[in-house]
Amino acid sequence: MKEKIYLPSKEFKKKAWIKNKSFYKEAAENPVKFWEKQAKTLFWFKKWSKTFVQNPPYFQWFKGGRINITSNIFENNVLGFENIKNKVALIWEPEPIEEKTIRLTYNDLLRKVNSLANALKKNGVKKGDTVGIYLPMIPEVVVSMLACARIGAIHSVIFSAFSSQALKIRLEAAKAKILITADGYYRRGKEINLKEKADEGIKGTGVEKVLVVKRTDSQINWNSEKDIWYEEAIREEKDFCPAEETKSEDILFILPESGTDGQFLPIYHTMGGYTVQAYCTGKWVFNYRLEDVFWSTADIGWVSAHTYNCYSPLLNGATFLIFEGAIDWPDPDRWAQIIQEHAVTSFYTAPTAIRMFMKHGAEILKPYNLSSLNLLGSVGEVLNEEAWQWYYKEIGKEKCPVVDTWWQTETGSIVISSLPGVGPFKPGFVGLPLPGIKTDILDEDGKSCPAGKKGNLVLLPPFCPSLLTGIYNDDKKYREVYWSKYGSKIYCPGDTAIKDKKGMIKITGRADDMIKIAGHRLTTSEMERAILKLSDFVEAAVIGVPDSIKGEIPVVFAVSRISEEENSLEKEIAEQIKKEIGSIALPKKIFIVSDLPKTRSNKIMRLLLKNIFLNEDAGDLSNVSNPDSIKEIKEKIIQ
Ligand code: AMP
Repeated sequence: MKEKIYLPSKEFKKKAWIKNKSFYKEAAENPVKFWEKQAKTLFWFKKWSKTFVQNPPYFQWFKGGRINITSNIFENNVLGFENIKNKVALIWEPEPIEEKTIRLTYNDLLRKVNSLANALKKNGVKKGDTVGIYLPMIPEVVVSMLACARIGAIHSVIFSAFSSQALKIRLEAAKAKILITADGYYRRGKEINLKEKADEGIKGTGVEKVLVVKRTDSQINWNSEKDIWYEEAIREEKDFCPAEETKSEDILFILPESGTDGQFLPIYHTMGGYTVQAYCTGKWVFNYRLEDVFWSTADIGWVSAHTYNCYSPLLNGATFLIFEGAIDWPDPDRWAQIIQEHAVTSFYTAPTAIRMFMKHGAEILKPYNLSSLNLLGSVGEVLNEEAWQWYYKEIGKEKCPVVDTWWQTETGSIVISSLPGVGPFKPGFVGLPLPGIKTDILDEDGKSCPAGKKGNLVLLPPFCPSLLTGIYNDDKKYREVYWSKYGSKIYCPGDTAIKDKKGMIKITGRADDMIKIAGHRLTTSEMERAILKLSDFVEAAVIGVPDSIKGEIPVVFAVSRISEEENSLEKEIAEQIKKEIGSIALPKKIFIVSDLPKTRSNKIMRLLLKNIFLNEDAGDLSNVSNPDSIKEIKEKIIQ
């Protein structure tokens, strides 16, 4: 069957920053020069002396330069501060419907950032110190990140749904001196007592003071030696604070991530390279325009929201929206209500969310006018062809480019995606590497794979300006995790991929979700993709479980959109796997369930499914956004 390829509409092309392929050509001729040219459009206190230096596996962009990301957001914004200061920078939508939306202009935001920056200084925070931020999706989370950056302090945001134990490990790893948290927040109609978890989490860490935002105004424990109300801390502070002239290589933030085999990786990003790539990629891929309202549904605890729901839109003078709650609460159409109400133009979400929308069906969209949308994006997991088509047709009404963006916490910004004004868009494929970035797909011997052959995705020098340059206080992990597979000059992200004849890349999964069935290598994601080709299913998770004869064998959990006998649905899946992959991959068990456990950033928790299936300790469940799903799955496994 001929593969479908889409191109941007004429209308979109007209307003696109990048309209043609010559941009790629210029970048490919000399990537270092190309990035240098991009960096020159930003404001530097001091220009760099060397654009790119490398001492593998170490490298540095814009060496010798001095920059502050907040100067580029505010007083030296590329659009000119006078042009944006009264423009809305941030729209905050609270979860309770009866509460009011808050809108902050660039000037409001700058004043709040400065007041908090001064309050942090007064409370002993100096350049290079780490501030832990354990806040829900409220405006103060953005203000806190920017206030740290303003004074050259490092921020480390910890996902507010993490348990106190998870918080503690992260605060210790980042050596946080101060914590900014809140009394509580709302999630799915419930009031969550965040302060209680924060109190427990800081025990035994180096946190000396805790700034507490009043969000729910509920009863909390108060330690007068450490706790300070955020509002009181900033009340008397001046709303002017000059930006610290930080070096390119100074750390902007630390974001701890999980690595293969449960490793804990406090990844950090630096001021210079991150600022350049966050600015450029938002402009190229999301095509931020003055009049746009950009909404990313990711929680700020994840890199996706750091870059595209804070820094990148602000660097581009755009308006972005943050939402406190769950996008399907109190009703499955809450997200559509938000798009309509705020005339969102660009919507960025995860494949799991898209498949959840599919499950509810296009019917629920009927009462809404989503015509403000002009661009759709996806990130975080493989976006299967069917979900791509549904997103494009039912939400984008065939007029919005769908950009499937590949990147990771380590890369800090988007690395692979089709450009919305250039295209092409090929469902199931993430696209070409962005201009100025060189990738390849290598086999186990380090040879470049021809089109159609699966291998390991890699980044080649000069990589990209926002690629991680280290793991906080753990150089050994930095070398081992990213630079050992193909030597110290090739960055290995840990994903497998295929390219087509035109170089378009399809991500096939994580190298580490590989399962070996009777010696045959398979990835669980390719099986999931096969299942999702069946129109009866909206979600699927495949895990590999030990088998005494075959080594490993797959187990399938699938969510169906139709109410049919479970037996016949199971049969349908088994036949599909046999057809698409072969009988070697036939699952040991297939469970038809109504929901799959997910994180709050909407990633399916496959490891948790495996633990449940194998009756192993499932560990900390505080990160599960839909704990009810676990009960049903356990019952089905026991049956
Ligand atoms: P994280 O650092 O948590 O954002 O996870 C990064 C990983 O998510 C990548 O290494 C990929 O395995 C996966 N990922 C991110 N974006 C995509 C995408 N567009 N398509 C497929 N997988 C993706």
